[in-house]
Amino acid sequence: MLQRQEPAPAGIKSMSETTKTDVLIIGAGPVGLFAVFELGLLDIKADLVDILDKVGGQCAELYPEKPIYDIPGTPIITGQGITDALMHQIKPFHPTFHLGEMVTALEKIGDPLFRVRTDAGKTFEAKCVVVAAGGGSFQPKRPPIKGVEAYEEKSVFYAVRKMEQFRDKRLLIVGGGDSALDWTLNLQPIAKRLTLVHRRDEFRGAPDTVNKMRALVASGGMDLKIGQVSVLEGADGTLTAVTVKGNDGKESRIELDAMLPFFGLTMKLGPVAEWGLKMEDELIPVDTGTFETSIPGIFAVGDINTYPGKLKLILSGFHEAALMSQKAFHYVFPEKRLVFQYTTSSTSLQKKLGVA
Ligand SMILES: Cc1cc2nc3c(=O)[nH]c(=O)nc-3n(C[C@H](O)[C@H](O)[C@H](O)COP(=O)(O)OP(=O)(O)OC[C@H]3O[C@@H](n4cnc5c(N)ncnc54)[C@H](O)[C@@H]3O)c2cc1C
Repeated sequence: MLQRQEPAPAGIKSMSETTKTDVLIIGAGPVGLFAVFELGLLDIKADLVDILDKVGGQCAELYPEKPIYDIPGTPIITGQGITDALMHQIKPFHPTFHLGEMVTALEKIGDPLFRVRTDAGKTFEAKCVVVAAGGGSFQPKRPPIKGVEAYEEKSVFYAVRKMEQFRDKRLLIVGGGDSALDWTLNLQPIAKRLTLVHRRDEFRGAPDTVNKMRALVASGGMDLKIGQVSVLEGADGTLTAVTVKGNDGKESRIELDAMLPFFGLTMKLGPVAEWGLKMEDELIPVDTGTFETSIPGIFAVGDINTYPGKLKLILSGFHEAALMSQKAFHYVFPEKRLVFQYTTSSTSLQKKLGVA
């Protein structure tokens, strides 16, 4: 079962107590997920943090319906399919997910012991850290509207972290993809009034969602404007109205409390570069015997690492996660001896997997 912790509302930093865990995995892409499995076989408990509000990294976010043909033993599986399969495979180990949060700070506080903080105010203490941050953090694309930065996090939001924040508010959603349409349908029932603005009268969202949105417009439940937001009105971060310039050149002024632009996501390295790790061309060099970084106890697996011959493939990341776990075991259980075992023949591993 996916154990998800509700993130703090955008802009609100809750002072929570410290969560202690064996291994903190930064990134819940396919490699971060498989790391849970390999660590779990060795009785190592993991917490995962991901900036996205779902697991699967690039596979789930960039190509959920595309088939992948080079996963060993699996001739064809989609991006979402492999994510679902990995979630099924790691179920016996009950990882805790902290989604919709970005790891901002990582510091060494012991030998090894690390303190990790997120932008939602959470603090973790972990014996090891696994950086499985892929191409970096997915971050929302800023819409090309003059002066929009001044209203961000106060009246302009690129993600919905808590729907209640928008109850009884006049909302303007901008965009024509799945996120814009899904949030239109989800927020319309609780908003005071909702307007969707898109630059053309064609939508990239799922047909069923588009039909539901059009039905709401037809019944008077919400407004649809075809055009682009051209002017923002407000002061001190509080947006009060926008002007929408229609494709016919006509302008309309809409009063509002919050604007939610959904213009897609872009990948940026983000805070990884600030954690004191040796970096090469925005990648983390690792020892290929252990996948440990320049700081003992911090590992890097998947697309974020580099070494001679590195291939940015899911299968490479899976191999890296297996070797990383062997070294992490010695940090987590310094007094224990590690015995190599096969899942086919080890009753103890099968018990952990719930099959024996
Ligand atoms: C269109 C496309 C097709 C592809 N096809 C194939 C294929 O056929 N076969 C194949 O093997 N590979 C393929 N790949 C590559 C494959 O998707 C990657 O190798 C794989 O996703 C890497 O996994 P990862 O877990 O290392 O990183 P990612 O999938 O990038 O996941 C990293 C996660 O870390 C999170 N993150 C980053 N920084 C932070 C932070 N500071 N705090 C919290 N979270 C953070 C991100 O939000 C992200 O979810 C393809 C890629 C693309 C784009």
